[in-house]
Amino acid sequence: MTRACKNCLAILEDEETCPVYGGQPGPKCDLSRDFHGYLVVLSTEKSAVAQRMGVGQPGKYALKVR
Ligand SMILES: [Zn+2]
Repeated sequence: MTRACKNCLAILEDEETCPVYGGQPGPKCDLSRDFHGYLVVLSTEKSAVAQRMGVGQPGKYALKVR
């Protein structure tokens, strides 16, 4: 089941925890199955979209999570 974190926008496949916090669930992490968009960030330094979204590390991210 694919879900996305409302707080970090990270897309998770089967993981129960958000990778943005190093495998631990973050204090505000809230996973939702209702998300839109799919963004793959390979390098946060080179991606203007990632910087605008505040994405801290490479990975898969949703554009909008409800
Ligand atoms: Zn999160």
